[in-house]
Amino acid sequence: MLNRLYVHVPFCIKKCHYCAFVSSAPEQNDLVDYPSLLMSELKLQKVEIDPLVSIYFGGGTPSLLQPQQISTMLENISEQAGISINAEITLEVNPGTVDKTTLLAFRSAGINRLSMGIQSFDNCFLEGLGRIHTTEQAHMAFRNAREAGFNNISIDLIHSLPDQTLHQWRMELMQAIQLNPEHISIYGLTVEENTAFANTYPAGSPELADEDLSADMFELADELLTASGFAHYEIANYARPGFQSQHNSGYWKRDGYLGLGVAAHTFLRSGYGIRFSNPETLAEYRCSVMAGKLTQIGKQELTQSDAMAEYLFLGLRLAVGVDLQSFEHEFGQSLESAYGSAAIDLMRLGLLVKNGEVLTLTMRGMLLSNQVFAKFL
Ligand code: SF4
Repeated sequence: MLNRLYVHVPFCIKKCHYCAFVSSAPEQNDLVDYPSLLMSELKLQKVEIDPLVSIYFGGGTPSLLQPQQISTMLENISEQAGISINAEITLEVNPGTVDKTTLLAFRSAGINRLSMGIQSFDNCFLEGLGRIHTTEQAHMAFRNAREAGFNNISIDLIHSLPDQTLHQWRMELMQAIQLNPEHISIYGLTVEENTAFANTYPAGSPELADEDLSADMFELADELLTASGFAHYEIANYARPGFQSQHNSGYWKRDGYLGLGVAAHTFLRSGYGIRFSNPETLAEYRCSVMAGKLTQIGKQELTQSDAMAEYLFLGLRLAVGVDLQSFEHEFGQSLESAYGSAAIDLMRLGLLVKNGEVLTLTMRGMLLSNQVFAKFL
């Protein structure tokens, strides 16, 4: 049984220069047809679904869909799977795609949380990133969202942009705090393969922030946001009390979820867990759904050791950390018997800390989280 749903909308007006997500510009009737494909896929799914406690429309740019399409999908989802009365229903919004009328209509359709891809409050950086919106549009979209009745808004920001200084990043954070959203996600830029940035900024480019500057930016975000009342509840996420992302918290706690749409991932809590994803291209996805048989890509039945590693590296992302008794209860063995002295070694290095039975990352551990997680693989 699962009670979380992710819906991937793989369309964007144009590709951002740093983007490695599965998304492309829609052709002809793609935007019109896609929701019915998603709902056909839901009908074909054999997994048992409890009333959903969270639904997340991500992308791509799901705010390119018409509010009426979202409304129809939510009615359909409610009929087929059920939606809990207090379900968190998030829509990712690109500020360049919405006005007050559409935001009002999304709110009426049942969306109760927005995740706004602001990324930067500096038009030069926005242009460099290849974003379609300006700072002014981001402010306008946020204001319109408030006026449309959204009282749970998250914004995304990226640091370590090419040639960005610590002072400029401070200004970005100050503007984010001034905007006063309920939730802020902070990501450091990584130059991914097969993106425009991979050509413009090959490894070692002087424009890219070095490790020390990135670490300073991460620490500055922690300092300013926590001083402004945001809880740093996950490595990359800050929230006002009561506004942690319910949907993403489910990922970090290894709750099962169903992913609908092109390239969407599913996780079933059967045995130690089963993961698979949908076809990566719209053409293959459409073929699979129209033929009435779902194609599962990269299906992996997790072993106990896979599940233990996941439990640790997802749990350690959270400020509440990993409860060692819960770990032992879940897997029938202690952390020490599974990984020897790994945790103690990481504590000695100042990357992990143990309070009672709870293991958490230190600030340094968050900065070097990949090195910590590698010890549990
Ligand atoms: S809007 Fe988001 S998904 Fe679309 S190209 Fe830009 S970063 Fe990628």
